Amino acid sequence: MSQVRSQDWLSKVRAMVGQEALPPQTAADPVNLPMIRRWCEAMGDRTPAFLDEQAAVRSGRASVVAPPAMLFAWTMSHFSPDGEREGGTLLGLDLVDAAGFTSVVATNVEEEYFRELRCGDLITQRVTLDGISDEKKTGLGVGHFVTYRYEFSDQRGELVGRTIFRVLKFRPPAKAKEAAPVAADAPRAAKASPPRPPMTKDGEFFWAGFVERKLLVRQCGQCGRLHHPPGPMCPECNSLEWTPRECSGRGTIHSFVVMHQPQIPGHQYPLPVALIDLEEGARIVANLQGIAPDKVRIGLPVEVQYVEYEKDFVLPAFRERRTG
Ligand code: ZN
Repeated sequence: MSQVRSQDWLSKVRAMVGQEALPPQTAADPVNLPMIRRWCEAMGDRTPAFLDEQAAVRSGRASVVAPPAMLFAWTMSHFSPDGEREGGTLLGLDLVDAAGFTSVVATNVEEEYFRELRCGDLITQRVTLDGISDEKKTGLGVGHFVTYRYEFSDQRGELVGRTIFRVLKFRPPAKAKEAAPVAADAPRAAKASPPRPPMTKDGEFFWAGFVERKLLVRQCGQCGRLHHPPGPMCPECNSLEWTPRECSGRGTIHSFVVMHQPQIPGHQYPLPVALIDLEEGARIVANLQGIAPDKVRIGLPVEVQYVEYEKDFVLPAFRERRTG
């Protein structure tokens, strides 16, 4: 593609910055307890103020409140069976696609919460195209970062939260992936390495453990609860003390999805990804390997294996565990 043509589409997208990126969308249902309960159950969140009316009142609230991180869940649009997002495509993405940057991966989400949501609040979402970067070389390929601003307001029009959502639209690397068969028993790494996970001070030990072939979970130094994903504080007792607890690597599948898109180099697709209940009690997210997507089921016993991409870069993948 010539430089002139590439400038052409990019300046068209730039001219749309500040415009509405989707029609405003009001939630199908008001904030409600059944959805809060399902979300907390899936996330392993037992915060009393989300689940127990009396505990919420004791904490000085009028009633139970929704987890702030559910903000997006209230207005999230559905996907039709053929994979199209109902409610339309975000403004500008068709031009980015037409320029050859057809692959997408979400890169950052920044959320701000202005007040706690209560049952009965009816949330409306407005989305604005916030910006597009110059062409960048990234680990996934050459692409542009496209940023959208989501603003959420309640039934009185009061702003209750804001999300800045950035995606990388990149040109798929030619022939980078091999279409290897899904079912195979031995742990194996595809030729390309997947991107390394984002490293935080809290989570560093978790990823470093895999290099030693250890599955480590944070255990509270005060109340003993295992907590994952790693955060600075125990969600049960707010203690900052913790030690890494080595887990057996055995567990069962709590829930799963089969990923088809986006295809990240270094993984093989379709890729089953599961929430796994470890026998010690923590719940983690990990890829499955050696289990055909149509054989994955809730309750399946699994065990960890380690996939080495580089000497200092090892990721877990779970395979079926034969029992009895
Ligand atoms: Zn604790």
